[in-house]
Amino acid sequence: MVSYKELGLVNTREMFAKAIDGGYAIPAFNFNNMEQLQAIIMAAAETKSPVILQVSKGARAYANQTLLRYMAQGAVEYAKELGWEKPQICLHLDHGDSFETCKSCVDFGFSSVMIDGSSLPYDENVALTKKVVEYAHKYDVTVEAELGVLAGVEDEVSAEESHYTKPEEVIDFVSKTGCDSLAISIGTSHGAYKFKPEQCTVDPATGRLVPPPLAFDVLAEVEKKLPGFPIVLHGSSSVPQDEVDTINSHGGKLQAAVGIPEEQLRKAAKSAVCKINIDSDSRLAMTAAVRRVFDEKPAEFDPRKYLGPARDNMKKLYIHKIVNVLGSDGKAE
Ligand SMILES: [Zn+2]
Repeated sequence: MVSYKELGLVNTREMFAKAIDGGYAIPAFNFNNMEQLQAIIMAAAETKSPVILQVSKGARAYANQTLLRYMAQGAVEYAKELGWEKPQICLHLDHGDSFETCKSCVDFGFSSVMIDGSSLPYDENVALTKKVVEYAHKYDVTVEAELGVLAGVEDEVSAEESHYTKPEEVIDFVSKTGCDSLAISIGTSHGAYKFKPEQCTVDPATGRLVPPPLAFDVLAEVEKKLPGFPIVLHGSSSVPQDEVDTINSHGGKLQAAVGIPEEQLRKAAKSAVCKINIDSDSRLAMTAAVRRVFDEKPAEFDPRKYLGPARDNMKKLYIHKIVNVLGSDGKAE
């Protein structure tokens, strides 16, 4: 049993309470490798933003859970080295699929876990979430739950169709389970292909696809039912078109990739939404930088010469999200 507190990590309780009061959101960035983690920590340290490091099931399978945990521990020390005296870094399990997975993360030094029972019948979701909350809270680990189904694919989490969260269920769900935050479905979606072209309209000026707006009415209803309760948005990458263009102009083939417009996320961040998950945008930033080097310098074979630019590009993206979209800069001085 390792307590996250010994590792210098924090849970989400205080950072969410401050985010709701302050009208901003905490970035939750997924990581699988060193360059990505370095970029996240550099961006958070430079902007003094609280940050949530997310580990998905796919990341655990790819990079090994033990290694990822020690990387997060190292990240705290690295942040201090960068001059961030009191880093507020949370290590969070993304889409935990069972009590056992959540328990093993709690026991292993995670400061926050998500139990995703959203695909289960309502009563089973309640029972599973409650069981995880009871265990996690013994160790002061915070728990994110989910109601409603997001469309799209994310590291083995996939659903054909989305179902908006039913606002009439949220009070019952939160009071029965005791969860600390709730992921809801209001039209965001996992992956880089969030909407089919037929769901979008075309901007006549640019020819780009414009996705349907998020269901802010559902969000407002949820907020009304649960005043001051932390809400989470998954699948909230914006799929920057300049990165998609860079990828495509250097041999890539991403067609009709479309995300959530940043002005909609800005609006959400000012509400009870206090955690916004971003993964695909970082993948795009990394891939764009690597493709550019491979295309422009085909003789290059030192990984540092293409992973270095990839790291720089991800860092730029993370700082942009923190400062221009979520507004969490300067909130962890
Ligand atoms: Zn998700």
